[in-house]
Amino acid sequence: MKAELLFDCPFPFSSQILASTRSLLRPSSSMAMSSSFCPRMPISPLLRPSPFPRSCSFFSTAISSQLSDATPKGGGFAGRVGFLGLGIMGSPMALNLIKAGCDVTVWNRTKSKCDHLIDLGAKYEPSPAEVASSCNVTFAMLADPDSAIDVACGTNGAAKGMGPGKGYVDVSTVDGATSKMISQHIRDTGAAFLEAPVSGSKKPAEDAQLIFLAAGDASLYETAAPLLDIMGKSRFYLGDVGNGAAMKLVVNMIMGSMMASFSEGLLLSEKVGLDPNVLIEVVSQGAISAPMYSVKGPSMVKATYPAAFPLKHQQKDLRLALGLAESVSQPIPIAAVANELYKVAKSRGLSDQDFSAVIEALRTNLQNLEQ
Ligand code: NAP
Repeated sequence: MKAELLFDCPFPFSSQILASTRSLLRPSSSMAMSSSFCPRMPISPLLRPSPFPRSCSFFSTAISSQLSDATPKGGGFAGRVGFLGLGIMGSPMALNLIKAGCDVTVWNRTKSKCDHLIDLGAKYEPSPAEVASSCNVTFAMLADPDSAIDVACGTNGAAKGMGPGKGYVDVSTVDGATSKMISQHIRDTGAAFLEAPVSGSKKPAEDAQLIFLAAGDASLYETAAPLLDIMGKSRFYLGDVGNGAAMKLVVNMIMGSMMASFSEGLLLSEKVGLDPNVLIEVVSQGAISAPMYSVKGPSMVKATYPAAFPLKHQQKDLRLALGLAESVSQPIPIAAVANELYKVAKSRGLSDQDFSAVIEALRTNLQNLEQ
């Protein structure tokens, strides 16, 4: 049974909006018809984004206001939601589901991280299998491929509690091969699988501003859409399992290189007698401006790196991006060099600091050269 059979259309969209939306999309557009607006709409598995990322387009505005005015409890999702993995990202994501009125059951390897959510009304089960068994849709937000596989497929893993009519949504950042393996395990039980890694960090997770890069079971994407919309500002449906993972790795490959380059710039500006804070201001006003520079720059100048995105995860993503590039014989020399810098930073004990601590790898190298 497909997950879609369990739930009715979650949003009370007016037929007027639905009709005008359809007519807008009908002409030449081959866009995937994400059923952000009704899960029973047909979906074409094209490698195109949902036409309704909530942050842009006329219709997204119309639909967003519909959501805020009339969204029922739990975003309109009537089932029970499981959440596995309550780290920097998982914890605020689960919290937003609870705040929205969802019936949430949590599990985390370190149980104490569940406590504040239990205090706020979450249920608790002692294993991923028991969470999956008691929930309709289960999310997983784990550190890396090994932990994602372990939690999904290991002893007492989620797959043990999955079955027909259930859905598993893995929002961890992993490589495509890992995602496909987890997908196979989940689908072998008769359940549906969706990968949906996120773009955005701690603050966007807290503010429900994540961007979901989803791929896999289209019906589960429809079913989970109200939940994704509670936790994020936009979502893309990218087709087959592996495409979401690949998109996420490309994004983080770019980000890792940007941060390494920014670090070099900050240190060079200092070295030639400029004020790096002024550099941050100059960069923020020009064409290379990025929120990341303005947000991270000031603390980098102060050499403080409170973890929003742990450096070990950035290095993991560069490593996985290198593997992705190798699989298609694509040279990515800049990312390869950046990866080496993050490895140096890890070897200097900075794994659990924010990834902006990569600047310390360069600072150390400069100091070595000066000696
Ligand atoms: P995190 O704070 O390090 O949390 C990792 C989570 O994985 C924790 O719940 C941890 O459990 C669990 N875990 C680790 N190893 C495990 C294992 N062997 N078995 C079971 N559970 C295990 O990481 P995060 O920042 O939340 O990131 C989670 C994922 O999202 C990563 O894939 C990351 O690349 C991705 N991501 C992060 C950000 C960000 O800005 N932080 C942004 C986008 C995507 P314990 O609590 O027991 O250690």
